[in-house]
Amino acid sequence: MISVDEALDIVLSRIEHIGTERVRLDQARGRVLAENVCADIDLPPFDRARMDGYAMRSEDASVAPIRLRAVGEIAAGARMTERLESGEAVKIFTGAPIPAGADAVQKVEVTESDGETVLIKEAVRPGQFITPRASEVAAGETVARRGREIGPAEMAVLASFGYAEVQVARKPRAAVLSTGSELVEVSTKPVEAQIRNSNSYTISAYAERAGAAVTNLGTVKDSFTDTRNALVEASRSRDLVITSGGVSMGDYDLVKAALEDLGAEIFFDRVSIRPGKPTVFARLDSTFFFGLPGNPVSTSVTFNVFARPALRKMQGDDDPLLPTVRAALARPIKDASGRRSYLPARLFIEDGRAGAEPLKWVGSSDLVAFMRANALIVVPEETHDISEGEMVEVFALTRF
Ligand code: AMP
Ligand code: MG
Repeated sequence: MISVDEALDIVLSRIEHIGTERVRLDQARGRVLAENVCADIDLPPFDRARMDGYAMRSEDASVAPIRLRAVGEIAAGARMTERLESGEAVKIFTGAPIPAGADAVQKVEVTESDGETVLIKEAVRPGQFITPRASEVAAGETVARRGREIGPAEMAVLASFGYAEVQVARKPRAAVLSTGSELVEVSTKPVEAQIRNSNSYTISAYAERAGAAVTNLGTVKDSFTDTRNALVEASRSRDLVITSGGVSMGDYDLVKAALEDLGAEIFFDRVSIRPGKPTVFARLDSTFFFGLPGNPVSTSVTFNVFARPALRKMQGDDDPLLPTVRAALARPIKDASGRRSYLPARLFIEDGRAGAEPLKWVGSSDLVAFMRANALIVVPEETHDISEGEMVEVFALTRF
C-alpha cells in the first residue's frame, strides 16, 4: 500500500494541462489564466489628483497662508489644456489629471475660495496629493502570470489593461457516477436498506468549485455489466470520471474490476489514508478515473486530497494543492491507525492564534457532522496520540 505523498505524486505526475480557450472577460471569473497579463498602458495614465482641492505650483504655497488666483476647475474625465502659471490655482477633483505646470494639490478643507481667488491656509510640499503617472504599473510590465486563478481583484487588472477577452484553461469535463444497489434518488423516501444518494451532489459541488464542468450521471447498481457500461458511457469525451462506492474488498465492489476489464491502467487502488484507504486512480485512453470510497466523509476527504489537485493541475494551476496551516489542537486525539489520518475539524482564530477542534462524529458516514468542518487535521502515519495545545498540521478545505 502506498503513502498519501506517493499517491499524490503519481496523480500530479500523470495529469497534464488539458488546453486553453478564449473567453469574454465577464465569463472569466474562477478560471485559470493561460496567458501572462501585460500592462498596455501606464497606471495611472497621467499624474492624478488624490484629493478634491486645488492644484498649484508648490513653490507658490511653500509658505501659508497665501492667496492665489482661481482659474477654473478640472473634473474627473476633463483635462486642462493651458499650462498653470505662477500665482494660479485650479480647482481639481479626485481622479482628475494634474495640469502642466502644477506639482501639488491642497485639499479643499484647508482652502477658502471667494470665486476670484482662493486662500491656501496650509503650505504644500512638491508632489503632495498627486499619484504620479506609472507609479503603480508601467506599460509593458507583466502584472499577472499564467496559472493564477482569476478572482475579483484579477478582474480589475484585466479590465484596466484592456483584456476584453482572455486566454484561460479549458474547464475539465468531469462525470460523476455513484455506485450502489442501496442508493435511491433524492426525491424518493428510502425504505428498508436503501439510502439516498448524497455523494453525487457532494462530488459535483466540490468538482464545480474546483473549476470542472460537471455532468451528474446518477447511480448504477452493483452489477458488473451495469458498472462496466456506465464507466464506458461516463468516459466518453470526459477528462475525468469520479465514482463513489464499490472500491472496497466486498464482493460487490466492482469499480476496479470493471476498469481492469476495460483495459484501464490502474495507477493505485489502496492508499495509506484514513478515512479512504480503498481509493482508485486509473486511466483509460485519455480519461482519468478516481474511484472514491462510498462513505460520505471518506468521499469528501479523498476528493480533496487527490481529485481536487488533479482538476487544478488539468487547468494549469500553479498551486494545485489546498493550503495547510499550523494550529493548536483544541482537544486531544488518539489515532492508532498507522495510516495518515485526515480528521474533520473546525479551524478557528482565537486571540490571534489558529486553533483546530476535531469534530465529534460517529464515523465516516456522519455527513451531518461533516457540515461543520472547514478543515482536516492531519495526523502523520507514525503519530498515535496528540495532546491538547500541541501544534498540528491542518489541511484547509477552501483556499484563503
Ligand atoms: P462502499 O464504498 O460502496 O462500500 O460504500 C460504503 C457506504 O457508503 C455504503 O454502505 C453506503 O452507506 C455509503 N454510500 C455509498 N454510496 C453512497 C452515496 N452515493 N451517497 C451516500 N452514501 C453512500
Ligand atoms: Mg457500495
